[in-house]
Amino acid sequence: MVKMFYEADVEKAALEGKKIAVIGYGSQGHAHAQNLRDTKHDVIIGIRPGKSFDKAKEDGFEVYPVAEAVAKADIIMVLTPDEIQEKLYHEDIEAGLTKGKALGFAHGFNINFGFITPPKDVDVFMLAPKGPGHLVRRTFQEGQGVPALFAIYQDATGNARDIAMDWGKGVGSARMGMLETSFKEETEEDLFGEQAVLCGGVTALMNAGFEVLVEGGYAPELAYFEVLHEMKLIVDLLYEGGFKKMRQSVSNTAEFGDYVAGPRVITEEVKENMKAVLADVQSGKFANDFVNDYKAGSPKMKAYREAAANLGIEKVGEELRKAMPFTKADDDDMFKIYN
Ligand code: NDP
Ligand code: MG
Ligand code: MG
Repeated sequence: MVKMFYEADVEKAALEGKKIAVIGYGSQGHAHAQNLRDTKHDVIIGIRPGKSFDKAKEDGFEVYPVAEAVAKADIIMVLTPDEIQEKLYHEDIEAGLTKGKALGFAHGFNINFGFITPPKDVDVFMLAPKGPGHLVRRTFQEGQGVPALFAIYQDATGNARDIAMDWGKGVGSARMGMLETSFKEETEEDLFGEQAVLCGGVTALMNAGFEVLVEGGYAPELAYFEVLHEMKLIVDLLYEGGFKKMRQSVSNTAEFGDYVAGPRVITEEVKENMKAVLADVQSGKFANDFVNDYKAGSPKMKAYREAAANLGIEKVGEELRKAMPFTKADDDDMFKIYN
C-alpha cells in the first residue's frame, strides 16, 4: 500500500514566516488562498485586472499584478488555467523568481511537458487536491478537506518537500490524507482519468445510451432520466462502497444485467482505444494539441463546445432541470470541477 500522510506527518512549519503569493483567483485559487489565510499564513494574490481581481479584493486580500506579487513573495503558487501558464510564466513570473524562492503548482502539466523550465536554484513543488476548488474551500470550513497528491520536481533549498506538505496542511488536505507522487505520474494519470473515464468517458457513454434509446423510439425525457439523472445516485453508492455496495443496492435484475451487458459495451476494443488515449497523453501529443489550439485562438475548443451544446441530451436536460430546482447548483458551483 502506498503511504498516506496526515497532519501529524507534517514535521516542519515550512510556510511560517513566508510570504505566499497565490497567482489566479478562480476555482483552486480562491480556495487555497482563503484556507491558507484561515490557517494564519501570510497570503497575497497576484492576478490581472478584472473579475477575479475585484473578487479577491472584496474578500479582503492584498491584490497585485502578477509580477509584483511574485517579486514580494517567497512562495509562489500558480493557479491559473494550464494553457495560459507558459506565457504568464515568461512574461510575469520568471523575472521575480530569484534564488531560494519556491514555485508551486496544482497540476504537473506545464513542468512535465516542458512548457515551463524554472531556474535550478528555486524549489518546485506540487500540491494537487483531488477535487474541485469549491469543495477544497467548503470541506475545509466544515473541518475536513479534500485529499491531495504532492510531489517535488526540484529541491534547491532542501525545504521543497516540507513546503509541499505544509501547504497540504494549510489547505486542509492533510486532514484527509496526502499521497506522494511525481510530476510525471500525477500529470499522466490525471489527464488519462479525466479524458477516458471521468469526463470524456462518462459523457460519451451517457450520450451514446441516450441516442440509442431515442433512435429506438423512446421518449427523450425518459432517456435523460435513465442515463444521466440517475447516474448521481449510482455514483454515490460506488463512492461509498465500491462496485459491491452499488450492486447490493440495485435490484438483482439490474445486477444480473450489469454483469451481462457491461463487458458487451466496454469491450477489449474499447480498452485498446483507452490505451491509445494514454499513449497520446504520455507522448505529449495531447498537451501540444491543447496548447497549440489555445495559441491559435481556440478554434477547436470553440467548435467542440458548440457541438456539445447542441446535443439532444443537453437540450432535453436543460428543460427538465428547470422543473427540478433541487438540481440547481449553488453559487460556488459556477467553478468548474475538472479543469
Ligand atoms: P480557473 O480556470 O478557475 O482559473 C481562473 C483564474 O485564472 C482566474 O482568477 C482568472 O482571472 C485567471 N486567469 C485566466 N486567464 C488569465 C490570464 N490570461 N492572465 C492572468 N490570469 C488569468 O483555474 P482552475 O482553478 O480550474 O485551475 C488552476 C490550476 O489548478 C490548474 O493547474 C489546474 O490543472 C489545477 N487543478 C484544478 C482543479 C479544479 O478542480 N479546477 C483540480 C485540481 C487541480 P480572470 O477572472 O481575470 O479571468
Ligand atoms: Mg483529475
Ligand atoms: Mg485535471
